[in-house]
Parts: sequence; C-alpha cells; structure tokens
Amino acid sequence: MNKPNHKSAGLNRRDFIRVGAAGATGMALAGVGALPAAAAGQTKLLPRRRYGRTGLQISALVGASDWNPDVIPLAVQAGVNYWHKAQNWTAATMPEAIKSQPREAYYLEVVVDRVGGDNKTGHIDEEQHYQFVKQAVARSGVGYYDVFKFHFGYHSIAEARTNPGIVNAFNRLKKEGLVKHLCISQHHYKEINGDMAFDIVAYLMDHSPFEAAQFFHTYGDQKEISDIIALAKQKDFGTIAMKSMRGVGRAATDVKFQSLLADPRYKGSPPATAMVKWLLSNPNLTAAVIATKNFDQLQENLAAARAATMSCHDRQALDLLAAFNKGQTCLLCSACVTRCPEEIAIADILRYERYALDYHELSRARAEYKTLTKNGTACIACGDCLPACNADINILAKLKEVHNLLG
Ligand code: SF4
Ligand code: SF4
Repeated sequence: MNKPNHKSAGLNRRDFIRVGAAGATGMALAGVGALPAAAAGQTKLLPRRRYGRTGLQISALVGASDWNPDVIPLAVQAGVNYWHKAQNWTAATMPEAIKSQPREAYYLEVVVDRVGGDNKTGHIDEEQHYQFVKQAVARSGVGYYDVFKFHFGYHSIAEARTNPGIVNAFNRLKKEGLVKHLCISQHHYKEINGDMAFDIVAYLMDHSPFEAAQFFHTYGDQKEISDIIALAKQKDFGTIAMKSMRGVGRAATDVKFQSLLADPRYKGSPPATAMVKWLLSNPNLTAAVIATKNFDQLQENLAAARAATMSCHDRQALDLLAAFNKGQTCLLCSACVTRCPEEIAIADILRYERYALDYHELSRARAEYKTLTKNGTACIACGDCLPACNADINILAKLKEVHNLLG
C-alpha cells in the first residue's frame, strides 16, 4: 500500500509531525503498518453497537470507500470496522490496513443500484443485481460481502410489497455464500408519487427480510425520523444516519458565523463535533456515516464519537448552527415537493447544493445537477411550495441561487 502522503491526505504540518513523532509503537492490529495508534491520540477504540437484526457489532462511525486512502489506516486503528460502498475496491485497491486483518474482523457493504436509469427512473432487475454483486465479489477478492444494501431504496410501500427482485437477488447470493445480510439505504419519493423514507422503513421492519436501514438524519429535522429510529431500536432493526452535516461546511467559511462562534460559550464545540456527539448520544441509533476528507476531520470525528455525550457548549453550538441554517439550508424533508405543479425535484436540487457548499464537492454537484430533467429554471414562481417549508427557505430565490452555482 502507498505510504501516507501528507499532501494528498490534506494533513497540515502539525498533524504530520504528530503522526511521525509517535514512532512505530502500538500496532495492535495486524497489518496496520502505516500509522501508530499513539499518533492519533487514541486512548480507546470507537464504541460499537449492534446493527439490528444483522447481529453485527459495528463501529459507531462507519467508513466509506471514497474516504481519502491515507486516513483509512488510522480509521482502522481507531476501530472503524464497517465499510460502506466497498464494491468500489478491487483486490488491487482494497486498503492493506483493512484486508490484512482476519476477514471476520471487518464488515464490507456492497451497494446495489437500480438499472436502466437513476434512482427514480431505473428499475429493479433480479438477474442484473445478482450478476453485479457476483462480479464485484470476484473483482474484490474478499470472498463475500457482509451486507447487501439496496441503494436509494424503494419508491413506495407498494413497490416493496409487490416487487421481489431485490430480495430474490439477495437470497440467491446468500445461498452461494456471497452475501450475508440485507439492508437498505432509503430516500423519500413523494415527488414521484411514492412514499416518505420513514414510512417505507416502518413497513420493511414488519414485512420483509430487511435487517437495517440508512437514511437522512440531522439536527432539527422532522420528528418522524427520531420516532422511526426509536421504533427500529425496539424492533431490533439497525439504523445508520447519513447526510447529517447540514450547513456545517458553509458555516465553516462564513465570516459572520465564525465570529459568533468565537464567543466563549461555544468554546471547544465546533458544530461538526457537536453534530457527531448529538447523533451518537442517541442510544437508539446504530451509527453514522460522515464524509471524511482529511486527517483533521477524522481526528475530530473520532474524538466526538468516543465522547458521544453532549455538553451545554455543544447544544449551544448546534442551536447557533440551526439559527444560521434557518432560511438557507434544506433539511431534505421533501415536504415541499408534492406542492410543486411543475414537479421540480426541489429536495434533490438542494441536496446537490449541499454537496457543493457543505462537502465542497462542486464538480460532483454540477454533474448531478446536469442529470435533472427539470432544473431550477422550470420554477414559475407560483409560491405553492413555500407554506410547506419548516426551514423557512424562500424556495423560489433558492432555486435561482443554486442554478447560478450549478447550472
Ligand atoms: S414556486 Fe417554483 S418550486 Fe415552488 S411550487 Fe411554484 S414552481 Fe414549484
Ligand atoms: S426546501 Fe424546505 S420543505 Fe423542501 S425539502 Fe428543503 S427543508 Fe423540506
């Protein structure tokens, strides 16, 4: 595997010295040869929680194959043992820090998308899903994936009830020992006359072989989300929060917000850290997946996940962030989408805005925006969507703003 490169990892000089100075001690995990445990200031491993009916004990922060490869050894050392979108790794690109461990020490997830279109226009095809995973297993050399995850999920409860393609593909693969557990990553589909994610997940808990779900969850979002997380816990159904860093990235570059944050009452509680603590202080939630670009972010997230309890400074920092977000950062709740006579995918457009402003992934956001059949310019300024928005967003103006940014 490549040696850590402080430039490509986005490490600053202080980080790199900290890593280098600690020497080669503390290498408890087999094969993790790049970064010593002491370098990360690790005093204890990340907490692990039961991932619902899968029975897997997964780290409270899950990793992803699109993380910077240079931070992965440190994440492994810190106890990250579950890897999202692992089908992106081949036998040649799978990080040494992961594959050098005994196979049962880590969990790999393969995500399976609809075919013949995107998450809205594509369809479920048992044979193609089956072949996709079979080929991914062969390419990766890992033997099997622990979790088969239906990416973006069902459009509606009716589809989950009547279309067995995903479950059939999973069952065939499971029989061959190529996958072990069935989970879903569920979005809202109100805009195409489907159902909300929490309603679909509630259905799956009682009527299907699915064992866990991943969905949007952030500070201040609708009550139905925390209710579904509590229900899932009761029913031993695993839950992973995604897209949680609402407004954190844009707040980090906002001069006014940063000057407010300098007040002593927010001391030691940057919003990103407070958000991780808030997520993991919920004992009903299994884990969170948080985009991690560099060493600093990983360090902060790990420390917050280990603490997992909120201080009053953390609460105040999140309230400050919520006030900053009001009127400008979408909750991705989809409450507005059914109101739009032009059937504009408002929540998708504002999700792409998040990629640009919060994750600083402008090219990805522009590429996604380009795929829309109707973009922000289709808005006729009727205002029908406005009463639905609890986040007080002036959607008309926002669509124009986003089009200027991404169009
Ligand atoms: S104002 Fe624009 S986005 Fe809102 S409902 Fe009317 S057309 Fe749709
Ligand atoms: S614009 Fe408002 S109503 Fe629409 S998805 Fe975002 S937060 Fe929800």
